[in-house]
Amino acid sequence: MPAKTGPKHEHGLKAGALLCPVCCVEFREIQVDMEWEGKVLHNVKILKCPVCQTETFTPEQLKDIIGQN
Ligand SMILES: [Zn+2]
Repeated sequence: MPAKTGPKHEHGLKAGALLCPVCCVEFREIQVDMEWEGKVLHNVKILKCPVCQTETFTPEQLKDIIGQN
């Protein structure tokens, strides 16, 4: 994980919203089919930056995926 220059409070953004660290815009939640450790998972919710198309998970989503054993 890249080092950050300390917490920055962006103006007008609600707490808890996940922001793309590059674009400083809110990630959008989308549903995709994906493969995770050899298993195909359907309708997995992920977050995608509408600007740079970076995809990421919330910690909660990651926990759901890993917990499906
Ligand atoms: Zn972005």
